[in-house]
Amino acid sequence: MRVTGTAQRDAWLAHAFPPVEQAGPDLWSVPVPIPDSPLRYTLTYLVAAGDGLVVVDPGWDTEAGWQALAAGLKAAGASPADVTGIVVTHIHPDHHGLSARLRDACGGWVAMHPAERDSLSAFRSLDGDARRDDLAWLRRCGVPDDVAAGLAVTGEMLAAVLAMAKPDILLDHGDLVPLPGRRLRAVWTPGHTPGHLCLHEESGNLLLTGDHVLPRISPNIGLQPNAAGPPLAAYLRSLELVAAYDQAEALPAHEYRFHGLADRVRMLLAHHERRCEEVIAILARRGPATVWQITGELSWSRGWASVTGFMRRAAIAEAAAHLRHLADQGRIGATAAAAGGPERYSLRGETPGRRPGIVSRGDGCGHRARHRWGRTI
Ligand SMILES: [Zn+2]
Repeated sequence: MRVTGTAQRDAWLAHAFPPVEQAGPDLWSVPVPIPDSPLRYTLTYLVAAGDGLVVVDPGWDTEAGWQALAAGLKAAGASPADVTGIVVTHIHPDHHGLSARLRDACGGWVAMHPAERDSLSAFRSLDGDARRDDLAWLRRCGVPDDVAAGLAVTGEMLAAVLAMAKPDILLDHGDLVPLPGRRLRAVWTPGHTPGHLCLHEESGNLLLTGDHVLPRISPNIGLQPNAAGPPLAAYLRSLELVAAYDQAEALPAHEYRFHGLADRVRMLLAHHERRCEEVIAILARRGPATVWQITGELSWSRGWASVTGFMRRAAIAEAAAHLRHLADQGRIGATAAAAGGPERYSLRGETPGRRPGIVSRGDGCGHRARHRWGRTI
């Protein structure tokens, strides 16, 4: 792996904000701040051709974010009114948050993968019982009630999601972004979210990787609604897919640009393999355990005690995704939860009170479709 965004990395190491940079012909990267996040910023990309100007991942919806985006557009010789379209790699608020405001300012279109549209629709269909359902899910994960009360979705969170822009255009795998004079092709990479897209800029051989592949950290892979399949299995397949773009420069949505996608993919595959083995070792050591107990025993880069708030929620979702993966491989099983009680995982054949061979296939708290909130980036 070779870092190409050296000014971005220097800024990262200095805890500073990176500059707006031209990252290719008629293509700029613009750091848009994320409030109260260790990630600090989203790298928004501006891609121009003729009269067209597409913004990829406008960033988090704050006034400071809007000003940063406007400053980036100005550096590229444009203004928000000149934007003709917006593509989001996925609907997380650090990517899709500003899309609605930007569309209002420019009158352009918003594009995303159909599965991201479906995720937005799922949020819209939630009723007033969303918090109750969420608390029930956390209980099945074994999260103590007092902790769950601080992690469950709130009306405020739901309102922020509902305020985000619905798409005008859907991009499937292989589709070209509507930007005449430029070939920017959608590459569907489910895993971090069900409809995550990378974008391949063909003439410059650049791959905008969104959150799918980042140079330093591993994106959160948690249970999500509307997934075509288990998220970790999808993510691992999507990693193999982008390894084929090894000659392309990677333009991620956080941190810094780099070359060496196949190398980075190998590291990420190894990371998840280690994670699965860590889960197995925990279960071998302590016997049957809940998602919450396993989450607390996994190793976290800053230590479990420093994983707080939504990061803690994402950690639970990530552990649940690994449990689901291991259950699908037949390596572990889950005891059926007593009505409303926590579900326990164990190595296959070691579940107390169950005959070997009939251990149920756990799916990470057994209620994947209900889990809508586990994310960090
Ligand atoms: Zn992100």
